Amino acid sequence: MLEDEYQLDYFKENGFVRKQCSKCGKNYWTRNQESDVCGDAPCVSYSFIGNPVFSKEYDLSSMREKFLSFFEKHGHTRVDRYPVIARWRDDIYLTIASIADFQPFVTSGLVPPPANPLTISQPCIRLDDLDAVGRSGRHLTTFEMMAHHCFNSRGNEIYWKDQTVEFCDKLLIELGVDVNAVKNRGLAAVMQDHVLKYLLADLSLQRLFSWI
Ligand SMILES: [Zn+2]
Repeated sequence: MLEDEYQLDYFKENGFVRKQCSKCGKNYWTRNQESDVCGDAPCVSYSFIGNPVFSKEYDLSSMREKFLSFFEKHGHTRVDRYPVIARWRDDIYLTIASIADFQPFVTSGLVPPPANPLTISQPCIRLDDLDAVGRSGRHLTTFEMMAHHCFNSRGNEIYWKDQTVEFCDKLLIELGVDVNAVKNRGLAAVMQDHVLKYLLADLSLQRLFSWI
């Protein structure tokens, strides 16, 4: 991916600096001038287990509500979750991500989305690394993908990269993340290129993917 694609005004206007991880060599954005590692495993070990990065404690339902209401407040319509059996798809059996709800009919433009932009918390099942579950704490069989999606079409752009990054940043700040404590607090406040790359790859499919 071209470096230019990562050069977003939002980063530059909000105190982020561009860094290269001293361990894996990947580039990332951070507000921490002293940071020298990307914050992802295995460059750093998990530090947030038992040591949450948010100022307040959230259980699943309160985190879900916080996420969905944040995006509602910013113009998104909350839509109901889809079944975990992807019966509208002939290429997968299980709903593996929130975007699977809208493929292929919405993303191909065949039918309009149920709302645009929208927010959803989609239960997902992934069994592709089932034999690794329990080894590292990062392998799962089921999870909820909290997401915000917008579907851009020619002449109707809902929003793009800068706005997406701004939403993610503001949500993390609202959740009480210390935006400068990257080295001590693990994953927070780092916008890693591979996350952004995923985000941007999705943009080419006319949708936005949110991470948390
Ligand atoms: Zn790294």
